[in-house]
Amino acid sequence: MKINPIPHKTLSDTAAGKLAASLLDGSLLPGTQLPPERELMNQFGISRTTLREALKSLEENSLIESRPNVGWFVRKIDESNITQAKELAGVHANRIAILATNEPVTGPRRVPVGPEKPLHIPNLQKDRLGTFEFISWWEREKVEKAKVLVVGAGALGNEVIKNLALMGVGNIFIIDFDNIEAANLSRSVLFRETDNHRSKAEVVAARAKAINPQIHVQYLDADVTTGLGLGVIRRMDAIVGCLDNREARLAVNRFCYWMDKAWVDGAIQELLGLMRVFVPGEGACYECTLTEQALRDLSLRYSCQLLARQNVLLGKVPTTPTIASIIGGIQSQEVLKLIHDMPVEAGKVVHFNGLTNHMHTTAYVPRDECESHWTYGEITELPARAERATLDDLLRIARADLGPEAIIELDQELVTSLECPSCHSFEEVLRPVSEITFEAGHCPTCGELREAQFTHMITGEEKFLHHTLAHVGIPQLHILRAHNGFEYRFYELTGDLPEALHFRHFESTVPEKEPKTGGRIRLKEEVRLVDPPTSPARDRIRIMDEEASEKVSIKSAKNRLQIKGKPDVVKLGKSSRSRVLDAETIHPKKVVKKAMISLRHKHVKVC
Ligand SMILES: [Zn+2]
Ligand SMILES: [Zn+2]
Repeated sequence: MKINPIPHKTLSDTAAGKLAASLLDGSLLPGTQLPPERELMNQFGISRTTLREALKSLEENSLIESRPNVGWFVRKIDESNITQAKELAGVHANRIAILATNEPVTGPRRVPVGPEKPLHIPNLQKDRLGTFEFISWWEREKVEKAKVLVVGAGALGNEVIKNLALMGVGNIFIIDFDNIEAANLSRSVLFRETDNHRSKAEVVAARAKAINPQIHVQYLDADVTTGLGLGVIRRMDAIVGCLDNREARLAVNRFCYWMDKAWVDGAIQELLGLMRVFVPGEGACYECTLTEQALRDLSLRYSCQLLARQNVLLGKVPTTPTIASIIGGIQSQEVLKLIHDMPVEAGKVVHFNGLTNHMHTTAYVPRDECESHWTYGEITELPARAERATLDDLLRIARADLGPEAIIELDQELVTSLECPSCHSFEEVLRPVSEITFEAGHCPTCGELREAQFTHMITGEEKFLHHTLAHVGIPQLHILRAHNGFEYRFYELTGDLPEALHFRHFESTVPEKEPKTGGRIRLKEEVRLVDPPTSPARDRIRIMDEEASEKVSIKSAKNRLQIKGKPDVVKLGKSSRSRVLDAETIHPKKVVKKAMISLRHKHVKVC
């Protein structure tokens, strides 16, 4: 990995920078004498030697001049020295003139209050966020309206979500596919012993809402690499990665680049941690930071995916709650900066070494040939839903726009068949590769690992075009790509919006709105995509907020399904990983179908 060291700013650089800024903004006028050394030393909180270094660098840049036995005088700023002044001033330019105040420069300083921020005296007895009003740059409305996606609800995710909830970040979306186990309790502030086996995302969302009932939360029990619609990312103000593996980071990185969103990554191991912000088009992205070897490993993983997921999911990294709170704290602050449109150091990494308490920043080198570097163009919002629209529907829409050559490009490989190399048994399958379990990848007859046929292009020749997008693993509110070899078009399943993005979990009312679609809708007459205006998923079986006692548990016992409990609600997980659908050895499709049938007819037991 190539990295460029960023020179550390010394105290004298900082002092010189602030003086240069004062020259530039006119608070130190040409010809005037600088304050005495003693005064400047106090003001900057630096030693005489450091101050003299700073003055010397200003002198070398022709910004001040020394008059023997009198002192330092400000020189006129003109074409000959303005560049140097600006370079020295750097980040201090456009800030208030420090010499106008008596505040020490080393401590926290108030940034001038923007004229748009009205003077407001908060009621600290009643207003939980009142003290934040005293932070000069804090914009309450921006924080309350912010939408933040937190990917991963492990040690880092717990810290970040806790912080965001405390700070009143108004809308938090949490995605994680994992369940809580005892070992998580030692480093996850939001988990309790009684949470064992519950979904991390759900528990964390509930606790965030409990910390601050004024915020809105939503959780999704799914794998970010496959289960999150891009339309969710598209509507976020910031994305935080609290992940523990490269594959998920790479996926988040690509999604964020495609949607042109900044994301904040954090990583921890033992007492070491790092934090970095990636902004599309500004410096390196996460993929740029990966070595050739790492990229090869990942692509190998993609081509041999039946075995891959298990391996990825096994990687457990030892961490402590302390490093999680340090890195999670920095990540949360970066989110706050993104919400406020404040500058962030994109494409750089902050390393923290807890053994030495050393912290340093380095910049990554962007790679020109990096595959993540492209952003979706204009997105067509369709009133379509993943569960209703078929591949054929989408292909027809794409062909109306792009001509008969148009094909759909899927984000993940679709397994179309499994064939056993030893007994040649052949099975037609139509599942996204992420849903094929290790067991399903093996031959039911002889136990051999089967060879899979994959595709990720829908060309119109397929026999399975009548299947819905959901059936082939397209998540709700996803944005699909189509192209004709020259031009891309992007289609969002905006009909899913009310269900897929609402921030209303753990609130008394979950809105039942008509699918709202903005932007232009390119729907051809012959294509029927709009759902009847009944409230969606009414007769479906869904649980979101119900009490645990009302849930149905489905367990597999020797290829049979048993359903215990009161069959009013059951969670329809998209995969066998789902919390309630615990049927690892049975094909997910079968499980889901049987569960639906049994529940519709209110059978208590299905075998
Ligand atoms: Zn890149
Ligand atoms: Zn076989």
